[in-house]
Amino acid sequence: MCRRAWTKNCRLTDMRLTKEDYEDIKRMVGMRQAAEYYGYQVDRQGRCLCPFHNDGHPSMKIYPHDRGYYCFSCGSGGDVIKFVSRLYGLNNEAAAQKIIEDFALPIKTQELSYREKREREQRVRRRQELERFTSQASNVLSRYRILLCEALRCPYTDLFDEALQMLTLVDYRLDCLKECPQELYADKKVVKWIGTIEQRIDRWTPGNGERQTVSG
Ligand SMILES: [Zn+2]
Repeated sequence: MCRRAWTKNCRLTDMRLTKEDYEDIKRMVGMRQAAEYYGYQVDRQGRCLCPFHNDGHPSMKIYPHDRGYYCFSCGSGGDVIKFVSRLYGLNNEAAAQKIIEDFALPIKTQELSYREKREREQRVRRRQELERFTSQASNVLSRYRILLCEALRCPYTDLFDEALQMLTLVDYRLDCLKECPQELYADKKVVKWIGTIEQRIDRWTPGNGERQTVSG
């Protein structure tokens, strides 16, 4: 077995294993199964020669499933990943990947890792979209709010009525934007409504026969 080449290969795959993957490996590959696969005879009592010291008679105890191994002579012990890691001089991630390949475990392949990369990119894009929406929406609503507040100073006009009618709603939406922007963004009606507010601001014409003194 060529350790060096394998380690090099592993680096090239650029895999990232999650905590769950490590748990899955330990769940799927028993300690005895692994010890035997890598060439160690385990007797009925679960003992085998320890690979980590010059062992004359079996002083390593192999525990079934994910319970690991322990050597009563040299004191080395751990789980199945640690075993392979020490046996082949690999770090934990490389050891985990070696086990995945050797036992053909249904855990991440290179392709899945690529898909994951794309999923991560999509998540980042969605977050950026949300940030853009939040910033634009709060800009529009804040500008509208200023206009409404100014309109409140001019009673007996249509703009005054609009202010009375809209101010509470605008404040409410601004609060929502601060607290749960993703909910607003997910609500198509609200997104559309913010679009109409933006148009409303553009059409805001103080002094349209109403002697308004509103500055945008
Ligand atoms: Zn030992």
